[in-house]
Amino acid sequence: MKYYSTNNPNHSASLSEAVIKGLAPDNGLYMPERIPVLPKEIIDKMPDMTFRDIGYAVIEVLFSEDLNGNQIKELVDHTLGFDAPIVEVAENLYSLELFHGPTLAFKDFGARFCSKLMSMLVEKKSKTLRVLVATSGDTGSAVANGFLGVNGVEVIILFPKGKVSKLQEKQFTTLGKNITALEIDGVFDDCQTLVKQAFLDEKLNQKLLLTSANSINIARWIPQCLYYFYAYSRLPKNDKKVVFSVPSGNFGNLGAGILASRMGLPIDHFVAATNVNKVVPEYLQGSPFASQPSISTVSNSMDVGNPSNFPRLQALYGGDENLFRKNVKGYFYTDAQTVEAIQKVNRRGYTLDPHGAVAYLGLKDFMNENSGYLGVFLETAHPGKFQDVVEEALGEKVVLPDRLAAFLDGEKKVIPMRKNFEEFKAFLKGLD
Ligand SMILES: *Cc1c(COP(=O)(O)O)cnc(C)c1O
Repeated sequence: MKYYSTNNPNHSASLSEAVIKGLAPDNGLYMPERIPVLPKEIIDKMPDMTFRDIGYAVIEVLFSEDLNGNQIKELVDHTLGFDAPIVEVAENLYSLELFHGPTLAFKDFGARFCSKLMSMLVEKKSKTLRVLVATSGDTGSAVANGFLGVNGVEVIILFPKGKVSKLQEKQFTTLGKNITALEIDGVFDDCQTLVKQAFLDEKLNQKLLLTSANSINIARWIPQCLYYFYAYSRLPKNDKKVVFSVPSGNFGNLGAGILASRMGLPIDHFVAATNVNKVVPEYLQGSPFASQPSISTVSNSMDVGNPSNFPRLQALYGGDENLFRKNVKGYFYTDAQTVEAIQKVNRRGYTLDPHGAVAYLGLKDFMNENSGYLGVFLETAHPGKFQDVVEEALGEKVVLPDRLAAFLDGEKKVIPMRKNFEEFKAFLKGLD
């Protein structure tokens, strides 16, 4: 399979180039040159297949030209090492729980797939691949945990000293092995600048094989389609149409759902649910697309004013705006509405995190306006990850799952560094 750039349909890259570069040279996003369709017989059989078997079938049609059967199996087994159950929250309304991975958020799926695929693609090169990541919290923990112990790859995380929550910091500074954390005396932007400078430094790139595991990388984006197939297969069979509501920031997750539907999964509609960073819902309601400065909210992983996967969504609809607007309904919610939803649903015995709450609200509104649907909203993080917001909403303690609590016992190990490129460069050179 070749991959084109959303900025230039004539640009063509191999899987290996697309994954290791991450972004096309013209700054476009890579897209598969064709979207394979799964035979209906396979989709009909999915209710009797395990999550992993579904994963093999889907990854096979997407990657069989580039990877052999053993590689596909290894890749899927590494990615789907935990479940993604659907839980009935109200009549015809389900939560798809994507938070059962090591860092309790859906980004674990993409990070795990990406790490394994990168390690396979560099196997032939005799060099270690170095993944540079600047983080303000969440990305660092998902990437670090996804890459932990993966052969041939080393992760270097740059984070701003004192600007990351204690729990998040623990999730990427206590791992050891192939994960190194650099504590930068500066802010997030300084970390990002250092990483960008490293990619631009020709001499350094001749010496070291450097890459980023950015969220727009196809190796993080594509595997997210797997849990749509799985969730769909676990819904009760009746004649209702199916709608998925996705809490969105950069819109990779929603794009992966649309990819699944383009591959033949009969999803009737999507809901794009956001907080007040509402650029896409406004576009879907008929306004031109216009990015905005981001606004801080209680669902802070979705505080994005210029969603990076938007060109990918357009490409999935072949540039047909009407079809895009017909198939995806946009809704946005304030923090007060989000908190109220957490309270209301909790009284029914289910605890939402702020992101899942936004998706729940979007699904509710869609189902009130359209009858005859089975609805699924994506619960993208465990409520314990957003303890402050959830505890304040509910006036009670939220129990931190053991996996997360265990990080707090780990010993923090970092290399302190100034926001100085020469110092960072010297560190990188010293790695070989
Ligand atoms: C990253 C994130 C989102 C947004 O996902 P996108 O793919 O960027 O739209 C939603 N919820 C949580 C908990 C996240 O970490």
